[in-house]
Amino acid sequence: MGYKFATKAIHAGQQADPTTGAVMTPIYQTSTYQQAAPGNHKGYEYSRGTNPTRKALEDCLAALENGKYGLAFSSGMAATETVLKLLRPGDEVITGDDLYGGSYRIFTKVFEHYGIKFHFVDTSEPDRIAEKISPATRLIWVETPTNPTLKLADIEAIGQVAKHTGVLFAVDNTFASPYLQNPLDLGADIVMHSVTKYIGGHSDVVMGALVMNDKALYDQLFFYYNACGGTPGPQDSFLVLRGIKTLHLRMKAHCENGRRVAEYLKDHPRIETIYWPGFETHPGHNIARKQMRDFGGMVSIVLKGASLEDTFNVAASFKVFTLAESLGGVESLINHPATMTHGSIPREVREKVGVVDNLIRISVGVEDIDDLLADLEQALG
Ligand SMILES: *Cc1c(COP(=O)(O)O)cnc(C)c1O
Repeated sequence: MGYKFATKAIHAGQQADPTTGAVMTPIYQTSTYQQAAPGNHKGYEYSRGTNPTRKALEDCLAALENGKYGLAFSSGMAATETVLKLLRPGDEVITGDDLYGGSYRIFTKVFEHYGIKFHFVDTSEPDRIAEKISPATRLIWVETPTNPTLKLADIEAIGQVAKHTGVLFAVDNTFASPYLQNPLDLGADIVMHSVTKYIGGHSDVVMGALVMNDKALYDQLFFYYNACGGTPGPQDSFLVLRGIKTLHLRMKAHCENGRRVAEYLKDHPRIETIYWPGFETHPGHNIARKQMRDFGGMVSIVLKGASLEDTFNVAASFKVFTLAESLGGVESLINHPATMTHGSIPREVREKVGVVDNLIRISVGVEDIDDLLADLEQALG
């Protein structure tokens, strides 16, 4: 379908319901489907494997990522797990040293037990990936921008390395969203999303997704999706389809507010370091300009000389921003990665990549910017 992003966000995968003409995709709240004779059905047999509301969502997600096939999961971690199930004992994975805490946990605490080896490298340097590739390497798993220090990885350059060595290449595109970045166009084989974040956009659903172009890869992933069953129900699929209809409007507002917050905080006397890829001084700025359409709504700050207690006090003193895990919803959130989202990563490991006790991550929402800036002013004051 040759339509542009906003049109796809509203229409892709959806048409008026053939039985009633309902314009919005109905919530097909059914586990099973009538068969005229054994094996003679309308394409739906049992909702673990396929459901019409979920299918509309999967087709929409695929279209937004310029991919052929989409699969929705009951969480981002269920989507990640399904990719890892392609691996066998002895296989090796090269991934980032600055990952979402839950990804680090499933790699080290779950899949290492099945004989899979993970190498954690600085993915902002494609050479660090290339030099770790061995005949046992089966998967490269990259997050960009990273969480919470917003490091950038050059998807196209890593895609070249993956292609030359025949290694599967997956990108966790949660922080950028398909509005800002489309990894399949840049050489990735699989895009993973925590749909919970920007795609759902309203902090009311937990969901994950995978998008890919290769039919054989889709068939393999679909096998584990159906065999293991981490698939979402129709109600959540409906909510996400609804959320996606404003993805382009929300992302534009997140980027605008993100820029204003970053510029406001940049010269604030309480701030020691600020991470936002839109600054020319950000180490990944040029990569961001090359592969992203804007710089997103995530900003991280390190408070100058602040103890853990000082940092907790600041984090708890916001009135418009809410102290909570997660990101990407319409409401602004404050997160303390060291004890919240990254609490499952050992201190030495997280501090090496900058996740220090006085770092605060901000998910800039789409409220009025004047109220957000005034709240930052009072909380930091
Ligand atoms: C939240 C998140 C995940 C995990 O997704 P869930 O929907 O919470 O299971 C994975 N990667 C990133 C970057 C995330 O922010």
